[in-house]
Order: sequence, then structure tokens, then C-alpha cells
Amino acid sequence: MRTEWSGAKRLVVKIGSSLLVDSIRGTLKAAWLASLADDIAALRKADKEIIVVSSGAIALGRNALKLPKGALKLEDSQAAAAVGQIDLAHAYEDAFRARGIVAAQVLLTLGDTEERKRYLNARNTMTTLLKLGAVPVVNENDTVATSEIRYGDNDRLAARVASMMSADCLVLLSDVDGFYTAPPSTCADARRLDEVRDITPAIEAMAGDAGSELSRGGMVTKIEAAKIAVSGGTHMVIASGKVRNPLAALAQGSRCTWFLAHSDPVAARKRWIAGTLEPKGAVVVDTGAAVALASGKSLLPAGVTRVEGSFERGDAVVIRNGEGIEIGRGLAAYDHSEARRIIGRKSGELQEILGYRGDPELIHRDDMALQRKG
Ligand code: GLU
Repeated sequence: MRTEWSGAKRLVVKIGSSLLVDSIRGTLKAAWLASLADDIAALRKADKEIIVVSSGAIALGRNALKLPKGALKLEDSQAAAAVGQIDLAHAYEDAFRARGIVAAQVLLTLGDTEERKRYLNARNTMTTLLKLGAVPVVNENDTVATSEIRYGDNDRLAARVASMMSADCLVLLSDVDGFYTAPPSTCADARRLDEVRDITPAIEAMAGDAGSELSRGGMVTKIEAAKIAVSGGTHMVIASGKVRNPLAALAQGSRCTWFLAHSDPVAARKRWIAGTLEPKGAVVVDTGAAVALASGKSLLPAGVTRVEGSFERGDAVVIRNGEGIEIGRGLAAYDHSEARRIIGRKSGELQEILGYRGDPELIHRDDMALQRKG
């Protein structure tokens, strides 16, 4: 068993429409879903955290609405998603409940994974769900997502979810068993790669459009997904879901292609916070807080003496010590005006000051990158 699989603690599993929905009848493949749920139950028993990203809403809904075969107009696919998402959620709920697992429906749009304030909200909710032992079942909120603001394919959505959640491994289950040097349907000498260490222009050029009728994502979106995943420190694997118990099969070494990340999700996230984001302000911390941060603690409002600049919740801010030296950066859990009201105050006082129960930290340690000493 590969260490990328056996060592993964948090996994995102993306299910393509063609696996879950019968293309002729437009109905759910319940026996296949049951076998997937068995695999997920086994992984949960092994103490792994699982997030499912499932397609299938449009494929299910178009049947119920008797929409014509072939490409749908945007408004028809939105209508189909509204209908099909109900069936999809019920299907997961039933399959999971039968195995003692609580399913949670999470519908996201592009903005939820890209705008930092909404990103923090989505991340917090999903973290809470995992902590409570539920399995989030994520899909794009197709009904409200118009063409400019939608992913349109769940490969990239799943990759964004994986990096947002600092997952160790992203599994794309689809109707192909890996990444090929050329489209296998048209090229007799197409070869499946076992692993891809770097997504080079040559690899990108190999991604023909291998999309099937039901799923939006061909190889091009899978490569896009791989880029998002590996830069977030998440390994990604493309494997066939056309077998029963596809995750057990993968664990036993079924054919697949691994895209390897070069760092772990925590390091990648810290690099992103430290290097990629433009800071919108700063917080000055007292000596006690500086010591606490160095020992791996979160930044509490009580340890902050000053707030500079104007930032929104989720923006990056510089953390400075009393001498004005930058000691790190982090994502603010409050906007600048709320931050100004709560600094110097104890966590227990925050609710009264703010009028709602917010985060106890001003910057959570997972959202913080400290500068290396020396
Ligand atoms: N979100 C779409 C659905 O649930 C699927 C997109 C895709 O196939 O990647 O129907």
C-alpha cells in the first residue's frame, strides 16, 4: 500500500456523475453507492476523516424533469440541479445512516472557496462537522451559480475543498483508471502513468479532453485539479470508480495515477499565508503573546496592544512585536473595526462586546505562519 494512501489522515473523495447515475435511465446506482459507503465506513473505523465531493445532481434532476439528452442550457442545468440535489442528498443520507455515519450536505460556490472571508467560514463549518464525526457531502451550488461564478466541474471544486481543508489526499473516482499519455479511446499506444511528480507542460499537453457524456470534467480539469491539490500540499490520485468498493480496490493497489505533492498541507498553507497573500494590516502583540505564539499557541485578543490598517475577516495581517519587528503573518478572524474593539480583552468578554459569539482567537494558530528564527 502506498504511504500517500496509508499515511493520509484526512481524505477528500470525488465521485463523478457517471459512477452514480445510470446514463440510460437517469437513476441512481444504489448498489454501487452502498459499496462506496462500506468503504467509507471502513476508513472511518480506521480513524480517517472523509469528505465526499459528489456530482450527480444535474444528471438525476434532468431525468426527473424530462429534459432532453445532450448539453443543457445553463438555466435548465440549474433547474435540474435543484431537483436532483434532493435525491442525491437523500441517497447519501440513507447509505451512510445504514452504516452508522451522519451525512452533512455542504453546497459551495466558487466564491466560498476564493473569497477569504467566506473561505474561512466554509473551512470552519467543515472542520466542525469533521470534529463532530459527520461526513460532509459537498457539491457545487449549481442552482445559484451562474456561468461567471461557477466551477462547472467538481474536479476543481474537490481540489479547492482539499486544499481549503488541508487534506492529505484527494481521490478522483471517475470512469477512467488514471492519467494517460494520450486519450486511450482514440490512441492505441496511449500509456497510463503510475505517478506524476511534476506537472510539466509536457504532462499538460497530454491531457486530451476525455470527458464522458454525463460528467463535465475531462482530463484537462483533472490536471487543473492536480495543480491546485499539489500546490496545497495534497497528493491526488485518479482511479477508476467503475468497480464496486472502489476505495478498497485502490488500497489494494488497483490501477491509478498518483500526482505527488512536494510538501505537506500544513507547510503549504503556511507558505501561502507567509508569501502569497498581501497583508492588509498589522497587529502588535505584547511580550506574553509573542512567547505564546512561539510555543505554538493561537493569538488571543488579550495579547494584542494595537491594530493597524483596514482589513476584513480572512485577510492576511502582519504580526509585530512591541519593538515593531515582524514575527509572523496570519489570517484575521475579525475585521479591523471589531479587532480594535476586542484587543486587550479576555475571550470571555467578547460576546458582550461584539453582540454575538465569535471566535475566541484573533488569529488561529492554523491560520498563522511565524518567521523562522536565526
Ligand atoms: N455539480 C454537478 C452536478 O452535481 C456536476 C459537475 C461535474 O460533473 O463535475 O451535477
